[in-house]
Amino acid sequence: MIRAKETDSIVPVCPHCDKEVQNILVTAISSTFGKRYAYYCEHCKKILGVSHRKGFFMG
Ligand SMILES: [Zn+2]
Repeated sequence: MIRAKETDSIVPVCPHCDKEVQNILVTAISSTFGKRYAYYCEHCKKILGVSHRKGFFMG
């Protein structure tokens, strides 16, 4: 079984610019389906993911 393990010793790396992402930027998007959130890299500003459910990261 694969377990989820919380860590603060590893810094995520952006798949677009290969830089360490210390801060993921979040922008709220209003749509007819409700509010969504886009997460993007602080360095290259490319989108890392969009939430499809409220309050669920990268869902
Ligand atoms: Zn980037």
